[in-house]
Amino acid sequence: MADETAGVESSGATDAVESAIGEASQLAVRLESARFAWPGGDGDLIAINRLEVSRGERLFLSGPSGIGKSTFLSLLGGVVTPQEGAIEVLGTELSRLSARERDRFRADHIGIVFQMFNLVPYLSMIDNVTLPCLFSARRRRRAEAHSGRIDAEARRLLGDLELDRPALLARAVTDLSIGQQQRVAVARALIGSPEIVIADEPTSALDEGTREGFLALLFAECEAEATTLIFVSHDVRLGARFDRRLALSELNRHAGGH
Ligand code: ADP
Ligand code: MG
Repeated sequence: MADETAGVESSGATDAVESAIGEASQLAVRLESARFAWPGGDGDLIAINRLEVSRGERLFLSGPSGIGKSTFLSLLGGVVTPQEGAIEVLGTELSRLSARERDRFRADHIGIVFQMFNLVPYLSMIDNVTLPCLFSARRRRRAEAHSGRIDAEARRLLGDLELDRPALLARAVTDLSIGQQQRVAVARALIGSPEIVIADEPTSALDEGTREGFLALLFAECEAEATTLIFVSHDVRLGARFDRRLALSELNRHAGGH
């Protein structure tokens, strides 16, 4: 099924690991024998032999509710760490970092679009978008390099997403439509050009007609910066336009109950 094992010999594992580390900057994500169970949970939820995601790749990961999609994204973001195995993001093995360092790494390198968007209700649209720049000096610098100031960069991103009309900008984020809130969440994930954007079912609150448009905008923004996009959803129909589609159940070696 998946092509992520192609070209990797099971013998000479050390060589393969060494060379993979040498080429790590070519990879956005690399998992090796990664196993994760929630404490008190029902055994391994994630057990992935190998997965490699290239820089700039758009990966669609599907699976029914409860299968572990959000948990998988938490592993990629270093919110949790695997009990066994390695998860490398941009060549950095997350388990080697402290919790604090992982928070920093995530803030610097990963833009996140949450399922419920998680906009801050008392902040304006612009301030919601610039938020990651308060947590990451790196993203602040990159946003400033783009547009001079972070609020100008927020405005530019919102403009790309057709949200920069003055009447909209003045509105409280809670008064925006779901589709508008979702685009604010995308602008927030993209500001400061993180190398990786992860999206956790961001279209689940949208009706079918607006989903395609949303994906087109997300793809266009990711393409402009060669951003790696890792998008999870239970809705396999959304996968058609991605570079690669994987089912989490196939990726998990214990899939099917063995
Ligand atoms: P999905 O995103 O595919 O719906 P999740 O990763 O959210 O799946 O959840 C998979 C399983 O892990 C569920 O059984 C859920 O109860 C459990 N789980 C998720 N988050 C936690 C947590 N913070 N603590 C303990 N169990 C959790
Ligand atoms: Mg989920």
